[in-house]
Amino acid sequence: MDCHVHSIGSESIDTILKGMDSAGVDKAVIISPYPSESRGTDTFPLPKPRIGVTRYMEFTYPDVTVEKQKEVVEFIANLQREAPDRVIGFVWLEPRLKDAVEILEWAVTSKEVKGVKMIPDHWYPYDEFMYPVYEKAEKLGVPILFHSGILFGFKDSSRFCRPVNYEVLLSFPDLKFALAHIGWPWVDECIALWGRFRSYTLRELGRGREDIRMFIDITPGTPLIYRRNALQKLIVYGVEDYMLFGTDCRASRLEYAKQHIERDTAILRQLIGASEETIEKIMSRNALRFLDIKL
Ligand SMILES: [Zn+2]
Repeated sequence: MDCHVHSIGSESIDTILKGMDSAGVDKAVIISPYPSESRGTDTFPLPKPRIGVTRYMEFTYPDVTVEKQKEVVEFIANLQREAPDRVIGFVWLEPRLKDAVEILEWAVTSKEVKGVKMIPDHWYPYDEFMYPVYEKAEKLGVPILFHSGILFGFKDSSRFCRPVNYEVLLSFPDLKFALAHIGWPWVDECIALWGRFRSYTLRELGRGREDIRMFIDITPGTPLIYRRNALQKLIVYGVEDYMLFGTDCRASRLEYAKQHIERDTAILRQLIGASEETIEKIMSRNALRFLDIKL
């Protein structure tokens, strides 16, 4: 199971399934495009610093609109409808849109979108304008996949994406979420935050280990020389039931997922000596739990 695949909004389901088949990927979380034309290129301007981010902040990217946000939902929902047992559609949501909460509800209840992806870009995960979005996702029972770690191609945004910025999610105890890229280069910070959620769940909420809401998406990220170390730390610290395999592949290039699968299983099996059961959890079973998929 690949929990982290990007769509650019023009892929056909045939191309996607062909790539998945050749890589040996059974199911993939496919993330809609960002609701803008300019994002992802290097042409958008460096946002000017501003004081006091509010929900209705003047928008940095003028081409981000409700229409565009709905369009990307429709695209990903259609892909999912064409192969519902293979494609799990996530919407890349721009939470600063005035109607973000309503759009999220519509995407999940009317379009059957299964989850949300967000990247903090000049907003912080703990900004109060985010609370209604978290509340809605929690109520709808859909997981959120957040970017965490250094952010390539988004100008000066890495500071917004540090793992500890997500500690605020302790206030939403039923919201399932994953931090992507093991927070690279803040791998230790990411693991420490998971420990915080584990302790909070067991001691303060009095729930069981299976109720921890934070998952860690191990999509690279980590350069190869750090990868064994990062994966080993996760397993030794007890995260093995919460690690999600992902690739960051383009949906039209899923054949490349094969290299990621081979690399990670080789590191886990040969360098770390992980059991087949552990490998199976990381490569698929944990993701089924994250996504609430019953086989
Ligand atoms: Zn990504």
